[in-house]
Amino acid sequence: MQVVNIGNRTDAPPQLPAPQAHEETREGNYFVSNYPPFSFWKPERVQEALDVIGRPPASMDTPLGLYLHIPFCRKRCHFCYFKVYTDKDSTSIEAYLSAVRKELALYAANPIIGGRKPRFIYFGGGTPSYLSTKQLGGLVDELKRVLPWDEVEEITFECEPGTLTEGKLEILRKIGVTRLSLGIENFDDEILKTNGRAHVSKEIDRAYAFARSVGFPQINIDLIAGMVGETEENWRETVRRGVELAPDSVTIYQMEVPFNTTISKEMRIRGEEVAPVAGWDVKRAWANYGFSQFEAAGYTLTSAYTAVRDTSKATFLYRNLLWAGADMIGLGVSSFSHVGGVHYQNEHQYETYIDRLNGGELPLFRALRPEPIERFVREFILQMKLGSVKREYFLNKYGVDMNEQFAAELGSLRDQGFLTFDEQGAQLNRQGLLQVDRLLHQFFLPAHRNARYA
Ligand code: SF4
Repeated sequence: MQVVNIGNRTDAPPQLPAPQAHEETREGNYFVSNYPPFSFWKPERVQEALDVIGRPPASMDTPLGLYLHIPFCRKRCHFCYFKVYTDKDSTSIEAYLSAVRKELALYAANPIIGGRKPRFIYFGGGTPSYLSTKQLGGLVDELKRVLPWDEVEEITFECEPGTLTEGKLEILRKIGVTRLSLGIENFDDEILKTNGRAHVSKEIDRAYAFARSVGFPQINIDLIAGMVGETEENWRETVRRGVELAPDSVTIYQMEVPFNTTISKEMRIRGEEVAPVAGWDVKRAWANYGFSQFEAAGYTLTSAYTAVRDTSKATFLYRNLLWAGADMIGLGVSSFSHVGGVHYQNEHQYETYIDRLNGGELPLFRALRPEPIERFVREFILQMKLGSVKREYFLNKYGVDMNEQFAAELGSLRDQGFLTFDEQGAQLNRQGLLQVDRLLHQFFLPAHRNARYA
């Protein structure tokens, strides 16, 4: 695991820095999750994905992972832009899980697997913990039968605290979950309610205590700085409660208001351009405060979003392998895959996804085979989120000298005080990391700048 020492550790509670200039939060997708932007992935390029799935892997050493999208939630959060459903009954959920099983069986019958077994598995959503213990057990048994999990090193499972019972957590441990990720976001019931979260704070304490007693190797908690209604006082209390839980890792996001969320739709109805949340300068200060408090409690930052308690134990293979070019097969409606250097996404309509699998075909919707230079840029920007990039890695893998390719961009960011770079590579400082997603657009190829991330 790449561990980034970005300094600024302090044992005393730091003062929140005064914002330099106010940067309002507006509607839009801030977080850079992949490259090239999704708007460049096209239905007419799906054959490029099918071609690569139909061939053996270029190298048996390319790690393989699975992502399972479980698109069900108890309620839709007001800031959510994911493909989720809050109205599916158990018959409909069973039909979906059956389609997911068929999807994996289709992959297993294709040459791209090439005898490889998954090294990491990620249950994301939606809310994977929305599934019943019976649904979970049946799904996992069948997936393991199709593609054995005996070489799996990490299984991450996202949970919403209100959906967890002791019995469900025991099943999760039994099926091999190593990294339980709890979507806490905030500890204040009023703020949770204002933002449309389904859980309340007492469910957090109960779920966390259960999870600890079951003995997961890693428990991560997610927090969001700057939810609707957030105040500095409340954020300090949320951070205090988070530190008190002593999770193995904490992920702190800064609130964004993407397109197609309840908040952005209401903004449009009211004709407002500025979102009803804190500005980016304030959210950065709050995220910085949160990380500093966790550092004071002995945590180390390992990416722009994550701090871990013990870097020798708390790993995140999914992120580290995916950001270094691993193959990942995304199962489920609207899931994203990266296989054999090709990006693609599944059908985003529930019924269409299921119908195509019932018809015996992979439910691919849009794809893109990036050019080598685009693959280089993808890995470069994703690894920037870890806080440092190594020049030799990109020279060896892509034959590209990042210091030459990005001489102007790196020089500009250094002059603005966000990073340093030398013969070895580049290293972001704390201010650079806190706004890395904003800075990454400078490294996009000209054709991709100003693209909408949807
Ligand atoms: S729990 Fe997560 S996936 Fe579900 S609605 Fe809320 S933000 Fe979206």
